[in-house]
Amino acid sequence: MTSVPRGYLSEFQTPKTFAKRSFLGEHISMDSHQWIDAHCHLASKRFTHTLAAVIERSLRAGVTGWVQGGIEPSDWNRQKLLQIQYGKRFLTSFGLHPWWVASATAESLDSAMKVLETLLPHADAHGELGLDFGQEHDKNRLQQISAFRSQLGLAKQHRKPLILHIVRAHSEALEILKALAPFPKGGIVHSFTGSLEIAQEYCKLGLLISIGGSVTHKGYFALKKAIPFLSLPQLVVETDSPDQLPNLIGVDPQSPNEPKYLLEIAKVLGELKGVTAEEVLNQSTDNLKKLFEIT
Ligand SMILES: [Zn+2]
Repeated sequence: MTSVPRGYLSEFQTPKTFAKRSFLGEHISMDSHQWIDAHCHLASKRFTHTLAAVIERSLRAGVTGWVQGGIEPSDWNRQKLLQIQYGKRFLTSFGLHPWWVASATAESLDSAMKVLETLLPHADAHGELGLDFGQEHDKNRLQQISAFRSQLGLAKQHRKPLILHIVRAHSEALEILKALAPFPKGGIVHSFTGSLEIAQEYCKLGLLISIGGSVTHKGYFALKKAIPFLSLPQLVVETDSPDQLPNLIGVDPQSPNEPKYLLEIAKVLGELKGVTAEEVLNQSTDNLKKLFEIT
């Protein structure tokens, strides 16, 4: 049994057909790569006027699939429209982001949860959900914890992979996750920057560790020490576009991040692991295909 929607498999399995059928109806010369960005926000308002060009640059860079991170109901609606436009390579994720939860009133949270219950069956994944106790968003901890628990319950009920956002709250999140495990559909811990010990705790729960642009910047020593000890089947690569621009020479640090930079993140990850960027991205894409049941 598989929940993969019709049309999905052929798009991923037949590169020649895919190459002829561009999203934009134009002739885009593609190489043989068909990598997936494990986490991005193409429904972000920052891409409203630029998305077609962003997608085209992504395709040219061999990044032909995009897993979204959800934030709140209006973002889910934009994702739904974009999936209609760009097809099933645009993987939707509906969830209440901890930043949104931290600022929401009890009433708006309640009504958003009701919308989520209705829409979640139509999403490819459930997220972002989690806890953020980082300086900027450390408020309403109890509301964050309660929304995290309720959303995990929904994810189990609807059998969706999880897209987790956990910042400065790993011990609290792991305690909740362990109490509610197992999560048979797995998931990813997006933009992970923690230590090896923490990464292994998530892996024991059947979750993948998603690495973003942080790895290209100075610092992040715990993460850089952990990566050589994590195996490629445990890792996926994300851009988190338009956020978290990697450290790139000649690129304005204020410019929005784009999925085309996935290879730049994989290069650094590959250096830390002693493998090529292509090996990193091929395995990351295989891991994501398995997670989303793209066979
Ligand atoms: Zn995100």
